[in-house]
Amino acid sequence: MANNEDLFKKIIAHAKEYGFIFQSSEIYDGLSAVYDYGHNGVELKNNIKDYWWKSMVQYHDNIVGLDAAIFMHPKVWKASGHVDAFSDPMIDNKDSKKRYRADVLVEDHIAKIEGKIEKETEKAAKRFGDTFDGEMFLATNPRVSEYQKQVASIKEKLYSALEDNRLADIKNLIEELGIVCPLSGSKNWTDVRHFNLMFSTQLGSLSEEASQIYLRPETAQGIFVNYLNVQKTGRMKIPFGIAQMGKAFRNEIVARQFIFRMREFEQMEMQFFVKPGEELTWFEYWKNERMKWHLNMGIPASEYRFHEHDKLAHYANAAFDIEFNFPMGFKELEGIHSRTDFDLSAHQELSGKKIQYFDPEEEKNYVPYVVETSIGLDRTFLAVLTYAWNEEKLDDGSERVVLRIPPFLAPFKAAILPLVKKDGLPEKALEIFDGLKFDFMCFYEDKDSIGRRYRRQDAIGTPYCITVDHQTLQDGTVTIRERDNMSQDRIEISKIRDIIAHRLKRQ
Ligand code: ATP
Repeated sequence: MANNEDLFKKIIAHAKEYGFIFQSSEIYDGLSAVYDYGHNGVELKNNIKDYWWKSMVQYHDNIVGLDAAIFMHPKVWKASGHVDAFSDPMIDNKDSKKRYRADVLVEDHIAKIEGKIEKETEKAAKRFGDTFDGEMFLATNPRVSEYQKQVASIKEKLYSALEDNRLADIKNLIEELGIVCPLSGSKNWTDVRHFNLMFSTQLGSLSEEASQIYLRPETAQGIFVNYLNVQKTGRMKIPFGIAQMGKAFRNEIVARQFIFRMREFEQMEMQFFVKPGEELTWFEYWKNERMKWHLNMGIPASEYRFHEHDKLAHYANAAFDIEFNFPMGFKELEGIHSRTDFDLSAHQELSGKKIQYFDPEEEKNYVPYVVETSIGLDRTFLAVLTYAWNEEKLDDGSERVVLRIPPFLAPFKAAILPLVKKDGLPEKALEIFDGLKFDFMCFYEDKDSIGRRYRRQDAIGTPYCITVDHQTLQDGTVTIRERDNMSQDRIEISKIRDIIAHRLKRQ
Protein backbone atom coordinates (compact mmCIF):
# COMPACT_ATOMS: atom_id res chain seq x y z
CA MET A 1 0.00 0.00 0.00
CA ALA A 2 2.99 2.26 0.51
CA ASN A 3 3.50 5.37 -1.59
CA ASN A 4 0.19 4.95 -3.26
CA GLU A 5 -0.76 8.44 -4.36
CA ASP A 6 -3.73 7.21 -6.31
CA LEU A 7 -5.14 5.38 -3.31
CA PHE A 8 -4.67 8.50 -1.19
CA LYS A 9 -6.62 10.62 -3.68
CA LYS A 10 -9.44 8.09 -3.72
CA ILE A 11 -9.63 8.01 0.07
CA ILE A 12 -9.72 11.82 0.26
CA ALA A 13 -12.47 12.01 -2.39
CA HIS A 14 -14.45 9.25 -0.66
CA ALA A 15 -14.12 10.97 2.72
CA LYS A 16 -15.71 14.08 1.23
CA GLU A 17 -18.37 12.38 -0.87
CA TYR A 18 -19.69 10.37 2.08
CA GLY A 19 -19.65 13.13 4.70
CA PHE A 20 -16.56 12.10 6.67
CA ILE A 21 -14.23 15.07 6.12
CA PHE A 22 -14.63 18.45 4.45
CA GLN A 23 -12.06 21.13 3.79
CA SER A 24 -12.61 23.96 6.29
CA SER A 25 -14.37 27.06 4.91
CA GLU A 26 -14.66 25.41 1.52
CA ILE A 27 -17.04 28.01 0.07
CA TYR A 28 -14.19 30.52 0.52
CA ASP A 29 -11.74 28.15 -1.21
CA GLY A 30 -10.70 26.50 2.03
CA LEU A 31 -8.17 27.16 4.76
CA SER A 32 -4.93 25.31 4.34
CA ALA A 33 -4.42 22.24 6.56
CA VAL A 34 -7.66 22.77 8.49
CA TYR A 35 -10.52 20.27 8.13
CA ASP A 36 -14.08 19.77 9.36
CA TYR A 37 -15.59 16.40 10.24
CA GLY A 38 -18.97 15.72 8.64
CA HIS A 39 -21.97 13.75 9.91
CA ASN A 40 -20.31 10.35 9.41
CA GLY A 41 -16.83 11.60 10.33
CA VAL A 42 -17.91 12.88 13.71
CA GLU A 43 -19.41 9.48 14.61
CA LEU A 44 -16.24 7.60 13.66
CA LYS A 45 -14.11 10.17 15.47
CA ASN A 46 -16.24 9.97 18.63
CA ASN A 47 -16.04 6.18 18.56
CA ILE A 48 -12.24 6.30 18.36
CA LYS A 49 -12.18 8.75 21.28
CA ASP A 50 -14.49 6.53 23.26
CA TYR A 51 -12.28 3.49 22.61
CA TRP A 52 -9.19 5.39 23.77
CA TRP A 53 -10.88 6.89 26.84
CA LYS A 54 -12.31 3.58 27.97
CA SER A 55 -9.02 1.74 27.42
CA MET A 56 -7.03 4.31 29.35
CA VAL A 57 -9.34 5.69 32.04
CA GLN A 58 -12.16 3.20 32.56
CA TYR A 59 -10.03 0.03 32.37
CA HIS A 60 -7.24 1.30 34.67
CA ASP A 61 -7.99 2.00 38.31
CA ASN A 62 -4.88 4.20 38.51
CA ILE A 63 -5.56 6.50 35.54
CA VAL A 64 -7.91 9.47 35.77
CA GLY A 65 -9.07 12.02 33.23
CA LEU A 66 -8.66 15.77 32.85
CA ASP A 67 -9.98 18.44 30.53
CA ALA A 68 -7.72 21.48 30.76
CA ALA A 69 -8.33 24.74 28.92
CA ILE A 70 -6.65 25.46 25.60
CA PHE A 71 -5.38 28.84 26.80
CA MET A 72 -2.74 28.66 29.49
CA HIS A 73 -0.51 31.14 31.28
CA PRO A 74 2.30 32.13 28.87
CA LYS A 75 4.90 31.07 31.46
CA VAL A 76 3.79 27.47 30.93
CA TRP A 77 5.30 27.57 27.45
CA LYS A 78 8.42 29.30 28.68
CA ALA A 79 9.01 26.55 31.26
CA SER A 80 8.25 23.74 28.83
CA GLY A 81 10.79 25.06 26.35
CA HIS A 82 8.25 25.75 23.62
CA VAL A 83 8.83 29.52 23.47
CA ASP A 84 12.54 29.06 22.91
CA ALA A 85 12.74 25.78 21.09
CA PHE A 86 9.46 24.62 19.56
CA SER A 87 10.55 25.39 16.06
CA ASP A 88 11.38 23.57 12.89
CA PRO A 89 14.25 24.42 10.56
CA MET A 90 12.69 25.82 7.39
CA ILE A 91 14.09 26.52 3.97
CA ASP A 92 12.54 28.14 0.90
CA ASN A 93 13.15 27.35 -2.72
CA LYS A 94 13.62 30.68 -4.48
CA ASP A 95 12.26 29.44 -7.80
CA SER A 96 9.09 27.62 -6.74
CA LYS A 97 8.62 29.89 -3.68
CA LYS A 98 7.70 26.72 -1.77
CA ARG A 99 8.67 26.32 1.86
CA TYR A 100 10.04 23.04 3.22
CA ARG A 101 11.25 21.61 6.48
CA ALA A 102 14.98 21.38 5.94
CA ASP A 103 15.30 18.23 8.08
CA VAL A 104 12.47 16.54 6.18
CA LEU A 105 14.18 17.24 2.83
CA VAL A 106 17.24 15.40 4.14
CA GLU A 107 15.12 12.62 5.67
CA ASP A 108 13.34 12.11 2.35
CA HIS A 109 16.74 11.81 0.69
CA ILE A 110 17.69 9.15 3.26
CA ALA A 111 14.41 7.33 2.57
CA LYS A 112 15.33 7.19 -1.13
CA ILE A 113 18.66 5.52 -0.35
CA GLU A 114 16.89 3.11 2.01
CA GLY A 115 14.47 2.38 -0.82
CA LYS A 116 17.44 1.35 -2.97
CA ILE A 117 18.57 -1.05 -0.24
CA GLU A 118 15.09 -2.57 -0.16
CA LYS A 119 15.06 -2.94 -3.95
CA GLU A 120 18.48 -4.65 -3.97
CA THR A 121 17.23 -7.02 -1.26
CA GLU A 122 14.03 -7.82 -3.17
CA LYS A 123 16.01 -8.48 -6.35
CA ALA A 124 18.41 -10.80 -4.54
CA ALA A 125 15.54 -12.61 -2.77
CA LYS A 126 14.00 -13.36 -6.16
CA ARG A 127 17.33 -14.49 -7.59
CA PHE A 128 18.21 -16.85 -4.74
CA GLY A 129 14.72 -18.10 -3.97
CA ASP A 130 14.39 -20.33 -0.89
CA THR A 131 18.09 -20.26 -0.10
CA PHE A 132 18.05 -16.46 0.40
CA ASP A 133 19.40 -15.29 3.75
CA GLY A 134 18.29 -11.66 4.16
CA GLU A 135 20.48 -10.86 7.14
CA MET A 136 23.57 -12.28 5.51
CA PHE A 137 22.85 -10.35 2.31
CA LEU A 138 22.48 -7.04 4.16
CA ALA A 139 25.72 -7.66 6.05
CA THR A 140 27.85 -8.66 3.07
CA ASN A 141 26.62 -7.19 -0.21
CA PRO A 142 29.11 -4.43 -1.21
CA ARG A 143 26.53 -2.17 -2.88
CA VAL A 144 24.21 -2.39 0.11
CA SER A 145 27.11 -1.68 2.50
CA GLU A 146 27.92 1.44 0.51
CA TYR A 147 24.29 2.65 0.78
CA GLN A 148 24.23 1.85 4.49
CA LYS A 149 27.41 3.86 5.02
CA GLN A 150 25.88 6.80 3.17
CA VAL A 151 22.73 6.66 5.32
CA ALA A 152 24.72 6.49 8.56
CA SER A 153 26.92 9.40 7.56
CA ILE A 154 23.99 11.63 6.50
CA LYS A 155 22.07 10.80 9.69
CA GLU A 156 25.07 11.61 11.85
CA LYS A 157 25.56 14.97 10.11
CA LEU A 158 21.86 15.87 10.23
CA TYR A 159 21.19 14.92 13.82
CA SER A 160 24.34 16.50 15.22
CA ALA A 161 23.59 19.72 13.32
CA LEU A 162 20.02 19.71 14.67
CA GLU A 163 21.25 18.96 18.17
CA ASP A 164 23.76 21.82 18.20
CA ASN A 165 21.49 24.15 16.28
CA ARG A 166 23.97 24.56 13.40
CA LEU A 167 21.51 25.68 10.73
CA ALA A 168 24.23 26.60 8.22
CA ASP A 169 25.46 23.00 8.34
CA ILE A 170 21.99 21.72 7.45
CA LYS A 171 22.00 24.01 4.42
CA ASN A 172 25.47 22.72 3.50
CA LEU A 173 24.22 19.15 3.80
CA ILE A 174 21.28 19.88 1.46
CA GLU A 175 23.71 21.35 -1.06
CA GLU A 176 26.25 18.56 -0.62
CA LEU A 177 23.57 15.92 -1.30
CA GLY A 178 22.34 17.85 -4.35
CA ILE A 179 18.76 17.89 -3.05
CA VAL A 180 16.42 19.63 -5.47
CA CYS A 181 13.02 21.20 -4.90
CA PRO A 182 10.44 18.52 -5.80
CA LEU A 183 8.36 21.19 -7.58
CA SER A 184 10.83 23.33 -9.52
CA GLY A 185 13.68 20.82 -9.67
CA SER A 186 16.06 23.64 -8.71
CA LYS A 187 18.81 23.89 -6.08
CA ASN A 188 18.24 27.59 -5.55
CA TRP A 189 17.74 27.51 -1.76
CA THR A 190 17.54 30.24 0.89
CA ASP A 191 19.40 29.87 4.17
CA VAL A 192 17.87 27.59 6.80
CA ARG A 193 15.97 29.54 9.51
CA HIS A 194 13.99 28.70 12.62
CA PHE A 195 10.22 28.87 12.50
CA ASN A 196 8.31 28.71 15.80
CA LEU A 197 5.24 26.52 15.41
CA MET A 198 3.10 28.12 18.13
CA PHE A 199 0.16 30.32 17.22
CA SER A 200 -0.11 33.37 19.43
CA THR A 201 -2.95 35.75 20.22
CA GLN A 202 -3.75 38.57 22.65
CA LEU A 203 -5.55 38.10 25.94
CA GLY A 204 -7.59 41.08 27.14
CA SER A 205 -9.10 44.08 25.36
CA LEU A 206 -7.01 46.86 23.84
CA SER A 207 -7.71 49.25 26.71
CA GLU A 208 -6.37 46.82 29.25
CA GLU A 209 -2.84 45.71 29.23
CA ALA A 210 -3.07 42.91 26.70
CA SER A 211 -0.68 40.02 27.05
CA GLN A 212 0.49 37.58 24.43
CA ILE A 213 -0.73 34.04 24.93
CA TYR A 214 -0.50 30.90 22.83
CA LEU A 215 -2.85 28.27 21.52
CA ARG A 216 -1.51 25.09 23.12
CA PRO A 217 0.73 23.09 20.76
CA GLU A 218 0.22 19.94 22.86
CA THR A 219 -2.23 18.85 25.54
CA ALA A 220 0.49 17.47 27.83
CA GLN A 221 1.31 20.73 29.64
CA GLY A 222 -2.29 21.01 30.90
CA ILE A 223 -1.63 17.71 32.67
CA PHE A 224 1.72 18.76 34.14
CA VAL A 225 0.46 22.03 35.60
CA ASN A 226 -2.48 20.17 37.17
CA TYR A 227 -0.35 17.35 38.54
CA LEU A 228 -0.64 18.53 42.16
CA ASN A 229 -4.37 19.28 41.90
CA VAL A 230 -5.19 15.84 40.57
CA GLN A 231 -2.76 13.91 42.76
CA LYS A 232 -4.06 15.57 45.93
CA THR A 233 -7.81 15.67 45.21
CA GLY A 234 -7.81 12.21 43.63
CA ARG A 235 -5.53 10.88 46.43
CA MET A 236 -3.49 9.23 43.70
CA LYS A 237 -0.55 7.02 44.59
CA ILE A 238 2.44 6.60 42.32
CA PRO A 239 2.43 5.00 39.79
CA PHE A 240 -0.63 6.75 38.35
CA GLY A 241 -1.67 8.41 35.13
CA ILE A 242 -3.65 11.43 33.93
CA ALA A 243 -5.32 11.21 30.53
CA GLN A 244 -6.61 14.01 28.40
CA MET A 245 -7.85 14.52 24.89
CA GLY A 246 -8.31 17.79 23.12
CA LYS A 247 -7.30 20.23 20.45
CA ALA A 248 -3.73 21.25 19.79
CA PHE A 249 -2.47 23.84 17.31
CA ARG A 250 0.74 24.00 15.34
CA ASN A 251 1.62 26.37 12.54
CA GLU A 252 3.17 23.55 10.53
CA ILE A 253 5.54 24.62 7.76
CA VAL A 254 4.55 21.86 5.42
CA ALA A 255 0.93 20.87 5.77
CA ARG A 256 -0.01 19.10 2.59
CA GLN A 257 -1.06 15.63 3.61
CA PHE A 258 -4.76 15.84 4.33
CA ILE A 259 -5.50 15.11 7.99
CA PHE A 260 -2.04 13.64 8.57
CA ARG A 261 -0.53 17.05 9.19
CA MET A 262 -3.00 19.71 10.24
CA ARG A 263 -2.66 23.12 11.84
CA GLU A 264 -5.53 22.37 14.22
CA PHE A 265 -5.74 18.76 15.37
CA GLU A 266 -6.65 16.58 18.31
CA GLN A 267 -4.38 14.65 20.59
CA MET A 268 -5.11 11.92 23.11
CA GLU A 269 -2.35 11.95 25.69
CA MET A 270 -1.65 10.13 28.92
CA GLN A 271 1.11 11.08 31.32
CA PHE A 272 2.09 8.29 33.68
CA PHE A 273 3.90 9.42 36.86
CA VAL A 274 6.43 6.95 38.24
CA LYS A 275 9.20 6.60 40.78
CA PRO A 276 12.56 7.84 39.41
CA GLY A 277 14.56 4.85 38.22
CA GLU A 278 11.46 2.85 37.26
CA GLU A 279 10.70 4.88 34.15
CA LEU A 280 12.27 2.53 31.63
CA THR A 281 10.32 -0.47 32.94
CA TRP A 282 7.10 1.52 32.60
CA PHE A 283 8.21 2.79 29.23
CA GLU A 284 8.47 -0.83 28.00
CA TYR A 285 5.08 -1.60 29.53
CA TRP A 286 3.32 1.30 27.83
CA LYS A 287 5.07 0.70 24.52
CA ASN A 288 3.57 -2.79 24.43
CA GLU A 289 0.19 -1.78 25.83
CA ARG A 290 -0.23 0.90 23.20
CA MET A 291 0.66 -1.45 20.36
CA LYS A 292 -1.94 -3.90 21.74
CA TRP A 293 -4.51 -1.10 21.68
CA HIS A 294 -3.94 -0.62 17.96
CA LEU A 295 -4.02 -4.34 17.19
CA ASN A 296 -7.22 -4.82 19.22
CA MET A 297 -9.03 -2.74 16.63
CA GLY A 298 -8.61 -5.69 14.32
CA ILE A 299 -6.18 -4.03 11.90
CA PRO A 300 -3.38 -6.49 11.03
CA ALA A 301 0.02 -6.20 12.72
CA SER A 302 1.71 -5.87 9.33
CA GLU A 303 0.30 -2.33 9.05
CA TYR A 304 2.17 -1.17 12.17
CA ARG A 305 5.78 -0.96 13.22
CA PHE A 306 7.87 0.54 16.00
CA HIS A 307 10.41 3.18 15.18
CA GLU A 308 13.07 4.11 17.70
CA HIS A 309 14.01 7.79 17.69
CA ASP A 310 17.47 8.43 16.27
CA LYS A 311 17.62 11.75 18.04
CA LEU A 312 16.10 12.11 21.50
CA ALA A 313 14.37 15.36 22.47
CA HIS A 314 16.22 17.30 25.18
CA TYR A 315 13.75 16.08 27.83
CA ALA A 316 13.62 12.37 26.92
CA ASN A 317 15.69 9.34 27.87
CA ALA A 318 13.81 6.90 25.62
CA ALA A 319 11.39 7.40 22.75
CA PHE A 320 9.62 5.14 20.28
CA ASP A 321 7.00 5.91 17.67
CA ILE A 322 4.29 3.57 16.53
CA GLU A 323 4.17 4.02 12.77
CA PHE A 324 1.30 3.09 10.48
CA ASN A 325 1.37 2.14 6.84
CA PHE A 326 -0.41 5.23 5.49
CA PRO A 327 -0.89 5.66 1.72
CA MET A 328 2.32 7.72 1.69
CA GLY A 329 4.26 5.00 3.52
CA PHE A 330 5.03 4.20 7.17
CA LYS A 331 4.69 7.40 9.24
CA GLU A 332 4.29 8.34 12.90
CA LEU A 333 0.89 7.70 14.44
CA GLU A 334 1.75 7.71 18.14
CA GLY A 335 4.73 8.60 20.29
CA ILE A 336 5.74 6.90 23.54
CA HIS A 337 8.26 9.00 25.42
CA SER A 338 10.09 8.69 28.68
CA ARG A 339 10.16 12.41 29.60
CA THR A 340 12.13 12.09 32.84
CA ASP A 341 11.30 14.82 35.42
CA PHE A 342 11.95 17.55 32.87
CA ASP A 343 8.50 19.13 32.74
CA LEU A 344 7.56 18.96 36.42
CA SER A 345 11.00 20.26 37.46
CA ALA A 346 10.83 23.10 34.94
CA HIS A 347 7.38 24.16 36.22
CA GLN A 348 8.57 23.81 39.80
CA GLU A 349 11.47 26.12 39.11
CA LEU A 350 9.61 28.81 37.14
CA SER A 351 6.48 28.86 39.32
CA GLY A 352 8.36 28.62 42.60
CA LYS A 353 5.79 26.02 43.78
CA LYS A 354 6.93 22.68 45.11
CA ILE A 355 5.72 20.02 42.68
CA GLN A 356 6.64 16.77 44.36
CA TYR A 357 5.30 13.50 45.64
CA PHE A 358 5.69 12.20 49.15
CA ASP A 359 6.41 8.51 48.81
CA PRO A 360 5.14 6.79 51.98
CA GLU A 361 7.19 3.64 51.31
CA GLU A 362 10.46 5.48 50.75
CA GLU A 363 9.50 8.16 53.27
CA LYS A 364 10.82 10.93 51.06
CA ASN A 365 9.75 13.57 48.55
CA TYR A 366 10.71 13.46 44.92
CA VAL A 367 9.73 14.91 41.57
CA PRO A 368 8.10 12.00 39.70
CA TYR A 369 9.36 10.80 36.35
CA VAL A 370 6.95 10.68 33.47
CA VAL A 371 6.19 8.19 30.71
CA GLU A 372 3.93 9.69 28.06
CA THR A 373 1.78 8.11 25.40
CA SER A 374 0.69 10.65 22.80
CA ILE A 375 -1.49 9.75 19.86
CA GLY A 376 -3.05 11.92 17.17
CA LEU A 377 -6.80 11.38 16.89
CA ASP A 378 -6.92 12.59 13.30
CA ARG A 379 -4.03 10.35 12.30
CA THR A 380 -5.80 7.40 13.91
CA PHE A 381 -8.89 8.33 11.89
CA LEU A 382 -6.78 8.36 8.73
CA ALA A 383 -5.22 5.00 9.67
CA VAL A 384 -8.68 3.44 10.12
CA LEU A 385 -9.86 4.91 6.83
CA THR A 386 -6.74 3.73 4.99
CA TYR A 387 -7.17 0.19 6.26
CA ALA A 388 -10.94 0.20 5.74
CA TRP A 389 -11.11 1.54 2.19
CA ASN A 390 -11.50 -1.29 -0.33
CA GLU A 391 -12.51 -1.26 -3.95
CA GLU A 392 -13.88 -4.66 -4.94
CA LYS A 393 -14.89 -6.42 -8.12
CA LEU A 394 -17.90 -8.62 -7.44
CA ASP A 395 -18.77 -12.00 -8.98
CA ASP A 396 -21.50 -10.45 -11.12
CA GLY A 397 -18.91 -8.11 -12.68
CA SER A 398 -20.07 -5.01 -10.80
CA GLU A 399 -17.87 -3.02 -8.42
CA ARG A 400 -18.32 -1.68 -4.96
CA VAL A 401 -16.39 0.47 -2.53
CA VAL A 402 -16.67 -0.88 0.98
CA LEU A 403 -15.27 0.60 4.18
CA ARG A 404 -14.25 -2.34 6.33
CA ILE A 405 -14.23 -0.17 9.45
CA PRO A 406 -13.85 -2.27 12.61
CA PRO A 407 -17.57 -2.67 13.50
CA PHE A 408 -17.31 -1.13 16.98
CA LEU A 409 -15.95 2.05 15.37
CA ALA A 410 -18.38 2.25 12.44
CA PRO A 411 -20.58 5.41 12.36
CA PHE A 412 -23.74 3.29 12.10
CA LYS A 413 -24.10 -0.26 13.33
CA ALA A 414 -27.19 -1.16 11.31
CA ALA A 415 -29.35 0.28 8.55
CA ILE A 416 -33.05 -0.55 8.70
CA LEU A 417 -34.44 -0.67 5.18
CA PRO A 418 -38.02 -1.39 4.06
CA LEU A 419 -37.84 -3.24 0.74
CA VAL A 420 -40.49 -0.95 -0.78
CA LYS A 421 -42.03 2.28 0.40
CA LYS A 422 -45.60 0.96 0.72
CA ASP A 423 -47.76 -1.88 2.09
CA GLY A 424 -46.94 -1.01 5.69
CA LEU A 425 -43.23 -1.93 5.34
CA PRO A 426 -41.89 1.55 6.27
CA GLU A 427 -44.04 1.50 9.44
CA LYS A 428 -42.70 -1.93 10.43
CA ALA A 429 -39.13 -0.85 9.67
CA LEU A 430 -39.51 2.29 11.78
CA GLU A 431 -40.84 0.17 14.62
CA ILE A 432 -37.67 -1.95 14.48
CA PHE A 433 -35.55 1.23 14.22
CA ASP A 434 -37.24 2.66 17.33
CA GLY A 435 -36.58 -0.57 19.19
CA LEU A 436 -32.85 -0.51 18.45
CA LYS A 437 -31.94 3.18 18.43
CA PHE A 438 -31.35 3.47 22.17
CA ASP A 439 -28.68 0.77 22.00
CA PHE A 440 -27.01 1.40 18.64
CA MET A 441 -26.57 4.16 16.08
CA CYS A 442 -29.05 3.02 13.43
CA PHE A 443 -29.89 4.41 10.04
CA TYR A 444 -33.30 4.37 8.40
CA GLU A 445 -33.77 4.83 4.67
CA ASP A 446 -36.58 4.05 2.24
CA LYS A 447 -35.47 5.80 -0.97
CA ASP A 448 -34.00 4.08 -4.08
CA SER A 449 -33.62 0.41 -4.90
CA ILE A 450 -32.44 -1.92 -2.15
CA GLY A 451 -29.22 -2.60 -4.11
CA ARG A 452 -28.29 1.09 -4.19
CA ARG A 453 -29.08 1.44 -0.51
CA TYR A 454 -26.81 -1.52 0.29
CA ARG A 455 -23.98 0.12 -1.67
CA ARG A 456 -24.39 3.40 0.21
CA GLN A 457 -24.17 1.55 3.53
CA ASP A 458 -21.08 -0.36 2.33
CA ALA A 459 -19.50 2.99 1.47
CA ILE A 460 -19.89 4.30 5.01
CA GLY A 461 -18.96 1.01 6.65
CA THR A 462 -22.28 -0.05 8.23
CA PRO A 463 -21.76 -3.67 9.38
CA TYR A 464 -25.41 -4.76 8.97
CA CYS A 465 -28.36 -3.98 6.73
CA ILE A 466 -31.73 -5.20 8.03
CA THR A 467 -34.32 -5.49 5.28
CA VAL A 468 -38.02 -5.55 6.05
CA ASP A 469 -40.16 -7.22 3.37
CA HIS A 470 -43.67 -8.63 3.01
CA GLN A 471 -42.73 -11.85 4.77
CA THR A 472 -41.75 -9.75 7.81
CA LEU A 473 -45.37 -8.75 8.26
CA GLN A 474 -46.43 -12.39 8.20
CA ASP A 475 -43.82 -14.21 10.30
CA GLY A 476 -41.75 -11.52 12.10
CA THR A 477 -38.49 -12.30 10.31
CA VAL A 478 -36.13 -9.97 8.43
CA THR A 479 -33.12 -10.36 6.14
CA ILE A 480 -29.81 -9.45 7.73
CA ARG A 481 -27.00 -8.67 5.29
CA GLU A 482 -23.40 -8.64 6.40
CA ARG A 483 -21.16 -5.87 5.04
CA ASP A 484 -17.91 -7.75 4.39
CA ASN A 485 -19.04 -10.97 2.75
CA MET A 486 -22.50 -9.74 1.70
CA SER A 487 -24.11 -12.91 3.05
CA GLN A 488 -27.84 -12.70 3.76
CA ASP A 489 -29.70 -14.62 6.44
CA ARG A 490 -33.32 -14.72 7.46
CA ILE A 491 -33.66 -14.17 11.21
CA GLU A 492 -36.31 -13.32 13.75
CA ILE A 493 -36.61 -9.66 14.70
CA SER A 494 -35.92 -10.56 18.33
CA LYS A 495 -32.41 -11.87 17.37
CA ILE A 496 -31.20 -8.63 15.72
CA ARG A 497 -29.96 -7.00 18.92
CA ASP A 498 -27.80 -9.95 19.98
CA ILE A 499 -26.27 -10.38 16.54
CA ILE A 500 -25.25 -6.72 16.34
CA ALA A 501 -23.98 -6.69 19.93
CA HIS A 502 -21.88 -9.80 19.29
CA ARG A 503 -20.27 -8.26 16.22
CA LEU A 504 -19.34 -5.10 18.11
CA LYS A 505 -17.12 -6.96 20.55
CA ARG A 506 -13.46 -6.09 20.12
CA GLN A 507 -10.94 -8.73 19.14
P1 ATP B 1 5.76 14.80 13.45
O1 ATP B 1 7.18 14.33 13.61
O2 ATP B 1 4.96 14.01 12.45
O3 ATP B 1 5.65 16.30 13.25
P2 ATP B 1 5.66 15.00 16.26
O4 ATP B 1 6.75 14.07 16.65
O5 ATP B 1 5.92 16.47 16.28
O6 ATP B 1 5.04 14.57 14.84
P3 ATP B 1 4.33 14.75 18.76
O7 ATP B 1 4.71 16.09 19.21
O8 ATP B 1 5.00 13.57 19.36
O9 ATP B 1 4.41 14.69 17.16
O10 ATP B 1 2.73 14.62 18.90
C1 ATP B 1 2.10 13.41 19.23
C2 ATP B 1 1.14 12.96 18.17
O11 ATP B 1 0.29 14.04 17.75
C3 ATP B 1 1.81 12.49 16.88
O12 ATP B 1 2.21 11.15 17.00
C4 ATP B 1 0.71 12.67 15.87
O13 ATP B 1 -0.16 11.54 15.84
C5 ATP B 1 -0.06 13.87 16.38
N1 ATP B 1 0.31 15.07 15.61
C6 ATP B 1 1.41 15.86 15.78
N2 ATP B 1 1.39 16.88 14.91
C7 ATP B 1 0.27 16.74 14.17
C8 ATP B 1 -0.32 17.49 13.11
N3 ATP B 1 0.24 18.60 12.65
N4 ATP B 1 -1.49 17.04 12.57
C9 ATP B 1 -2.10 15.93 13.04
N5 ATP B 1 -1.59 15.20 14.04
C10 ATP B 1 -0.43 15.58 14.61
